[in-house]
Amino acid sequence: MSSEVVVVGAGPAGMAAAVAASESGCRVRLLDDNSSAGGQVWRGYASNAGDRDTARFAALMRRLQSVQVEVHAGTRVVAQPAPGMLRVESDAGSADLRYDKLILATGARECFLPFPGWTLPGVLGAGGLQALVKGGLPIADKRIVLSGSGPLLLAVAANLAKKGAEIAGVFEQAPLTRLLKFGAGLSAHPGKIVEGIHYRMASRSAAYRTSAWVMRAHGRDRLHSVVVNVGGSTREIPCDYLGCGFHLIPNSELARLLECAIENGYVRVDSAQQSSVPGIYGAGEITGVGGLEKALVEGEIAGLSAAGRDAGRFYSRRKKQIRLAQRLDATFAPRAELRALAAPDTIVCRCEDVRRDALEKMRNAREAKLHTRCGMGPCQGRICGPASSFLFGWDSQSVRPPLMPSRIQTIATESSVLASSPKGQD
Ligand SMILES: Cc1cc2nc3c(=O)[nH]c(=O)nc-3n(C[C@H](O)[C@H](O)[C@H](O)COP(=O)(O)OP(=O)(O)OC[C@H]3O[C@@H](n4cnc5c(N)ncnc54)[C@H](O)[C@@H]3O)c2cc1C
Repeated sequence: MSSEVVVVGAGPAGMAAAVAASESGCRVRLLDDNSSAGGQVWRGYASNAGDRDTARFAALMRRLQSVQVEVHAGTRVVAQPAPGMLRVESDAGSADLRYDKLILATGARECFLPFPGWTLPGVLGAGGLQALVKGGLPIADKRIVLSGSGPLLLAVAANLAKKGAEIAGVFEQAPLTRLLKFGAGLSAHPGKIVEGIHYRMASRSAAYRTSAWVMRAHGRDRLHSVVVNVGGSTREIPCDYLGCGFHLIPNSELARLLECAIENGYVRVDSAQQSSVPGIYGAGEITGVGGLEKALVEGEIAGLSAAGRDAGRFYSRRKKQIRLAQRLDATFAPRAELRALAAPDTIVCRCEDVRRDALEKMRNAREAKLHTRCGMGPCQGRICGPASSFLFGWDSQSVRPPLMPSRIQTIATESSVLASSPKGQD
């Protein structure tokens, strides 16, 4: 009998994993909390199939459809009711899914560090702003500042400029020396150099400043300007939106819940992409933030490995991408000065309105939770957890079910076990 493989996350890593496992004879179910496949980088591509940019997505989607993977869109994993079982919730209700092998491809999110004014309407994650624009937010003639760290800032600047936005500046906190070293090491990735040049050309009218960051956002009901620090001098820039994110952090909550070992913040995997828990694999950003190519090759290896196939032919391709991920982390690590941005009255936990001065009295994340409710709101610490780790050095990564806000029935009652359709009879 073919094994049942469940893949969580239908970004590039999960799509590649599902295709590889299914082509190797497994019954595969692919789940994602979004309404369509594609993940972060291919968000919205499903509705724009045919565009030049969507060619790679469309090719992988065709493979996915030809093997008849069972795709469950709008479905989030919220708990593990028993070993080898996941509880999922969608608009239709909740259900339990059994698996023989599980592939986690849950991606990454932006890292936010608090500063005065960061909770004003008009201040968004850089990638979050891009996602809203991909979803239809009109941006033409809007004045936008991008700040934080990482290659995503340039990608977003290019995309928003293409949509008619005025990019008032891109402020990268990493120093120029680190960026030059990173650039000099890109000879093994000529595609990345071309991509970087392409992004920079698309937003060339905007200033790109290094060792620079937003110190404060001003506005009464919504953002009207930001104050930036560029190499020690400050100036105020009027703007409609601030897109701000300090590189990416992995969505490792489900892996933690399933007791997979975590190393340096990422899910630890072996050469077959298997985690420390036998039968559970990890692929894409959750094993190291390296972008699309890494996600695709790791997904392919995880899918083949889960199906019991040898994936050795992909190892050298993956090695290059892992090195790139490590260099990205080193280049875009946040500098210590950013710890001083949040004032005593700056909110750190925006779900529960917990200010920095309240947290400073606490000794660890648990105490902060018990005394202030920091991390106990709807985001379950996804935003304030990494911020308070950075500010106070806490380990804020404990997880418990439900992983995402869920209906009471989903967690309080038994769910029926959802049988998968026989392979090929979707
Ligand atoms: C906001 C944002 C914007 C980005 N934009 C770009 C870009 O424009 N260009 C670029 O090259 N790179 C971009 N990236 C980087 C991007 O992470 C990688 O390029 C690539 O998409 C990684 O693929 P992945 O499959 O590992 O993860 P992702 O593409 O992130 O896919 C993971 C999927 O898992 C789903 N998921 C997570 N947890 C659960 C759960 N419990 N239940 C169900 N589903 C779950 C997520 O919703 C997501 O769809 C962006 C990243 C972020 C965070």
